[in-house]
Amino acid sequence: MDGQGLFYRDTWVEVDLDCIAENVQQMRKYLSNDVELMAVVKANAYGHGDVQVAETALKEGASYLAVAFMDEAIALRQKGIVAPILVLGASRPEDVNIAAQHQITLTIFQLDWLEKARKLLNQNANVTIHIKLDTGMGRIGIKEKKELQALESIMLEDSRFKIEGMYTHFATADEPNNNLFYNQQLERFRTMISWLDAMPRMIHASNSAGAMKGANAHFNAIRFGIGMYGLTPSLEMEPHLPFPLKEAFSLHSRLIHVKQISKGETISYGATYEAKEDEWIGTLPIGYADGWIRKLQGQEVIINGIRVPIVGRICMDQCMIKLPFKVDVGTVVTLIGSQGDEKVSVNEIAQRLDTINYEIPCIISDRVPRIYKRDGRAVELKNSVLTF
Ligand SMILES: *Cc1c(COP(=O)(O)O)cnc(C)c1O
Repeated sequence: MDGQGLFYRDTWVEVDLDCIAENVQQMRKYLSNDVELMAVVKANAYGHGDVQVAETALKEGASYLAVAFMDEAIALRQKGIVAPILVLGASRPEDVNIAAQHQITLTIFQLDWLEKARKLLNQNANVTIHIKLDTGMGRIGIKEKKELQALESIMLEDSRFKIEGMYTHFATADEPNNNLFYNQQLERFRTMISWLDAMPRMIHASNSAGAMKGANAHFNAIRFGIGMYGLTPSLEMEPHLPFPLKEAFSLHSRLIHVKQISKGETISYGATYEAKEDEWIGTLPIGYADGWIRKLQGQEVIINGIRVPIVGRICMDQCMIKLPFKVDVGTVVTLIGSQGDEKVSVNEIAQRLDTINYEIPCIISDRVPRIYKRDGRAVELKNSVLTF
């Protein structure tokens, strides 16, 4: 891909922004009007495309964006995003002026950090802060009352630091049958909020799972990540969703070679697959360097509405599939998504790889171009050689 939307390779991800829009609308309707919707677009919007998802979410009622690192926030600014952006992870105190310059909201959770940053922040600069509390996740966050109160009082005096928000993160919100730990975290959060002298404008605790559990932990903002992409936070939550989710991500390729092999002939490295009879075999231009990893050997893909298996080892750039009959070179193969009546869901791939759905769109590497659909039509590909 040459950066202009031009690419010469028959493998692509299709991101249906209409699905993202619907998921955001549904969540927006589910929240009361005074609860802000923060769209989590870290990791290139979970592999979907940061600026495309951000713009779609903002148009449908998100009022804040969240990313993991300052680099991701700056990338969004450089792509023209002016909405507020919260960095959920740690940033270096040395970079506090960069955050101020780009108007990026930082998460802080250490007194040391604040002391260093105060020395470095330019006199006339301002930085917006959300304080992170550790209520049981054990990742980042303040736990002690003394430290929280010290942080607050310093920032109340140093007007360059504006405390806009305070938040925490649940460890078990996606386990509908285990509310004990979740409720303990919620209670701890309420207690810690009461330690502050001044209530920040934004109090937030819920990721998608927490937000979809009910209004209990909405406070006045929620952080909507996986659900916005149409994926359920966990399989156990599937029957408990307050509204249906629409999967936005699909992965496709086209046959680049088709041949018949005879009984006893083998396929790919290690010659691990041997034809039991005369078989039609197709080659796809996707491999483990695209994130289509070797463990997916044996996984089914869809061609002409029929499921067929990947045979032999997956190579770095290519893999082979068993065809149901002779199929033309150029035929579309769906690796994730629907074709005809068949569907390979992100969850199916995740289960095969013993992981969670979050990981799947993230591991499809940026060597695979993303094509965007909006209002049912492909967008952003003015000069593309690819038609579908
Ligand atoms: C990634 C992340 C989220 C989004 O979580 P989902 O489960 O994808 O909705 C929310 N909050 C924090 C702190 C995160 O790191």
